[in-house]
Amino acid sequence: MAKLIDGKRISQEIKDELKAEVAALAQQGKTASLAVVQVGADPASSVYVRNKKNACAYIGIGSESYELPEETTEEELLALIQELNQKEEVHGILVQLPLPAHIDEEKVILAIDPSKDVDGFHPQSAGALMIGSKGFLPCTPAGVIQLMKRSGVEMEGKNCVIVGRSNIVGKPMAMLMLRENATVTVTHSRTKNLKEVCKQADILIVAIGKPKFINEEYVKEGAVVIDVGIHRLEGKKLCGDVDFDAVEPHVSAITPVPGGVGPMTIAMLMDNCVETMR
Ligand code: NDP
Repeated sequence: MAKLIDGKRISQEIKDELKAEVAALAQQGKTASLAVVQVGADPASSVYVRNKKNACAYIGIGSESYELPEETTEEELLALIQELNQKEEVHGILVQLPLPAHIDEEKVILAIDPSKDVDGFHPQSAGALMIGSKGFLPCTPAGVIQLMKRSGVEMEGKNCVIVGRSNIVGKPMAMLMLRENATVTVTHSRTKNLKEVCKQADILIVAIGKPKFINEEYVKEGAVVIDVGIHRLEGKKLCGDVDFDAVEPHVSAITPVPGGVGPMTIAMLMDNCVETMR
């Protein structure tokens, strides 16, 4: 039976470590506060925003909420970001994505002061990751690394195949795995013979956005499988990009959905917020 990589437990462990660190930093007079900006009232986004604010409260950092109506213009949002960039009491700025279609996400990300870019999406953060210098790491891929480190998954020298090349998961994931000295292959919708490529993986990281796409035909016996995908099926049940029941009997370790990568994203966001205090 495969080992279950428990993101719920590991994310709690990280949040508890951060809570202790924040308490110690507070003794030195250091504080941090996160500004969370949401445009419109998409129910999934509202849940994420609430969870982020709860996590801030748990570890002891401040949070300010900006809930803007759906019809907010790009100019109004950019003006708010400029204001938050200037505001000394705000250490991190998080704009919940996706934004309504009339707002250019790229422009908004670019407007955030890189020293407050706790989501790690600004080109300066992406560039720092690329060249291996200091900067905020994007939360989901950073969470995947922590999951593996804290579960005893050896990464150095392993063949890692990443399915997906998005700017928020696949590409930064590749950079982080290179940092861990894995040999990395990035695949996407034009990759030929995807099954054969995936079967070479000691570590298979899947961020493709298609429910239960990866089945046992894509995995090598004994591989480690990390499922970044998250989908709500009819009847509200959650599933990932990996067909867990089909794959689990063949692998040595696997993340469940829910309870795998999902909870790590917020834990790593909190880590980035605490980074502003260190
Ligand atoms: P995107 O849709 O931005 O990217 C999907 C990637 O998968 C693209 O690079 C695409 O290739 C590739 N792809 C699509 N179809 C195929 C195929 N048939 N074969 C090979 N590759 C394919 O998704 P994200 O990276 O934003 O998210 C991926 C998943 O992770 C989603 O389920 C999302 O909900 C989840 N997610 C979960 C998070 C968490 O906190 N747990 C955070 C972020 C995302 P191409 O580039 O060629 O189009």
